[in-house]
Amino acid sequence: MQKKIIFPVLLSFLLLCSCSNSPTVQNTDSTVVKKEKQNNTNIDKEKSENSNTEIEENSTKNTDKPANNPGINDNATVNNPTVTTTYKAANQGVPVIMYHSIAYEEGNPARLPVENFKAQMQYLKDNNYTTLTLDELYKYYTEDYPIPEKSVVLTFDDGYDDNYTSAYPILKQFGFKATIFLISDFIDKMPGYLNSTQVKELNANGMSIECHTVDHPHLDQLTVDQQKLELENSKQAIEKLLNKQVKYIAYPYGGYNQDTLSLVSQLGYSLAFTTDGRWSEKSDGLVTLDRVYISGFAPLEKFITRITDPNYDNTD
Ligand SMILES: [Zn+2]
Repeated sequence: MQKKIIFPVLLSFLLLCSCSNSPTVQNTDSTVVKKEKQNNTNIDKEKSENSNTEIEENSTKNTDKPANNPGINDNATVNNPTVTTTYKAANQGVPVIMYHSIAYEEGNPARLPVENFKAQMQYLKDNNYTTLTLDELYKYYTEDYPIPEKSVVLTFDDGYDDNYTSAYPILKQFGFKATIFLISDFIDKMPGYLNSTQVKELNANGMSIECHTVDHPHLDQLTVDQQKLELENSKQAIEKLLNKQVKYIAYPYGGYNQDTLSLVSQLGYSLAFTTDGRWSEKSDGLVTLDRVYISGFAPLEKFITRITDPNYDNTD
């Protein structure tokens, strides 16, 4: 049933992409998020079959790590008058949540209504979660940098302008950090997406701006040279705009092949993310990390399950 819907959606995406000034841009970005969800579901099935055993095994280890003694595993905790922070053992999974648009759209589960987003952030706040930057996640994977047991990473793909107008005020209210993966050619050109003024403000206020290619292709369908242009030009464009180093990327539609993996390493990316629906683990490979998808239609209970249980049912 779903396959019958996908083909016209894909076709309309391709047609719309050939005309970047199309007045029907709303359809374009809807298609982007719908396709990424579809891809997520397909890959989920494959991943869930071969990764559960390892996750269960890891989840039984629970060594804590003190904040003032990075790199050393023992069973200490750190106490302060209000909160006791328990630190995560090395080589555990971390829920890296993948958001897109924070705006209600009828029938589109890849767009999350702002009330749902706020309820999810409120849950994180009420339950003493820490939102990690990708720099912190990278150091956790590579240097045993201590991170709280209750850590999540918040990521937003595509750079919708509602990330600025709707998500950012809520993130600021709670003091949370997040990462936005931008499509570099959409900046200042595509209605409905972030402009450079917004991007600069976000970057200056705790939101890390990273890469989501030049124009959102299926990388695994491109030649090596085409892929290089997508991965290199987008990185350089964001670096020039923000005068910072771009080190992280999310693959559009979660698509990549061996050429992609070679290129991201050559070009200096430290971490890269797919759309596969699981917690992100070092054993995924640092340039093929999973992320957690939350449907816009999901009740808060599903969000809670997905950030507390690494073996959650990821079939929807
Ligand atoms: Zn995308």
